[in-house]
Amino acid sequence: MAVLNPTNSQEAIELENKYGAHNYHPLPVVLSKGEGVYVWGVEGKKYYDFLSAYSAVNQGHCHPKIINALTEQAKTLTLTSRAFYNDVLGKYEKYATEYFGFDKLLPMNTGAEAVETALKICRKWAYEVKEIEENEAQIVVCENNFHGRTTTIISFSNDPVARKNFGPFTKGFIKIEYDNIQALEETLKNNKNIAGFLVEPIQGEAGVYVPSDGYLEKAKALCEKYNVIFIADEVQTGIARTGKLLAVHHENVTPDILILGKALSGGAYPVSAVLANDEIMNVIRPGNHGSTFGGNPVAAAVAIAALEVVKEESLAENADRLGKIFREELSEFAKTNDLVTLVRGKGLLNAIVINDSEDSSTAWDICIKLRDNGLLAKPTHGNIIRFAPPLVMNEEQLRDCIQIIKKTILEF
Ligand SMILES: *Cc1c(COP(=O)(O)O)cnc(C)c1O
Repeated sequence: MAVLNPTNSQEAIELENKYGAHNYHPLPVVLSKGEGVYVWGVEGKKYYDFLSAYSAVNQGHCHPKIINALTEQAKTLTLTSRAFYNDVLGKYEKYATEYFGFDKLLPMNTGAEAVETALKICRKWAYEVKEIEENEAQIVVCENNFHGRTTTIISFSNDPVARKNFGPFTKGFIKIEYDNIQALEETLKNNKNIAGFLVEPIQGEAGVYVPSDGYLEKAKALCEKYNVIFIADEVQTGIARTGKLLAVHHENVTPDILILGKALSGGAYPVSAVLANDEIMNVIRPGNHGSTFGGNPVAAAVAIAALEVVKEESLAENADRLGKIFREELSEFAKTNDLVTLVRGKGLLNAIVINDSEDSSTAWDICIKLRDNGLLAKPTHGNIIRFAPPLVMNEEQLRDCIQIIKKTILEF
């Protein structure tokens, strides 16, 4: 049977609608090429990408160094499984652990898998090191979190759309308000069975909520006081996105367990990882956990290249500098415009809040207009639009984008 090649947007969209499960609601634009900060539609229209595949493409689309690592390794050896050793994984583990400052790394593929892995390590540590009674360990999480889509992870989500009719849910999670240090202290103080605290340093999916200054530092100190593992989910905020290598670095916090994904491959391949020091990671022994593809040589080669690019091209510094310009310009604009209530974020992870109800279509309509004007962004939670371009953007391109955003909003 021949494969049908869609030649225009309409056809491509119809194919997905007819033959694909409807688990997403994409913006109507069909992309066929990407390079740096740009993507192109099938009809040839060029766009600035202001989503960066949810911050997976921090290094820019099809970064030549990453693609070269991918293709060279793909021609040589793609998969051995962990039944055997391969000659790239150890090299990658050494590089990445030194890069982030941990003893050990456990390789997985997607962000959700890495979160699951961190939860399993945390529980095992709780029973074997902290000596919590079997099956009693609790992990504290935050309201409005986003950590992925597995059954266990949605068990502690409070998004009704993500949860409805997927029960019964996994037990052992306590939900507290985000950015509320008292709530954390109360919970830790009143419960001997707490194994860990899982937190996003900035809540990306929830709408780019930046916690108060000092929150992460105080939370880490409380975790130390109560012998609880501090787990940072930096799948979206990590790897230079917020203007530092990790978002926890804004407060000089070192998590006990660090979760990475997305930009760990620069968007070229699914690569995720959990990092921790020996005292924690050594609870994992042969047979306890695994993944057929986790730690494969292509993933390892791609991740080394992707991490090198971040340093070589000073992406954290660039994100920090451009982020300040972006927020400054759009905050000025918001003062003169009734439709934009507020601009918030760190580095190049930013959002604007649209002055309309959460169930209004205004943010969506703005994103459609932005598309027509050559810039792709997506609403998150109704009236919030996230702006997260690749970090390889330069100032001239950013200023061009700011003009497009202002012009588009003025059309409403
Ligand atoms: C995207 C994301 C995940 C899940 O990653 P997947 O690769 O989609 O499974 C987990 N945590 C955070 C904070 C994320 O942004």
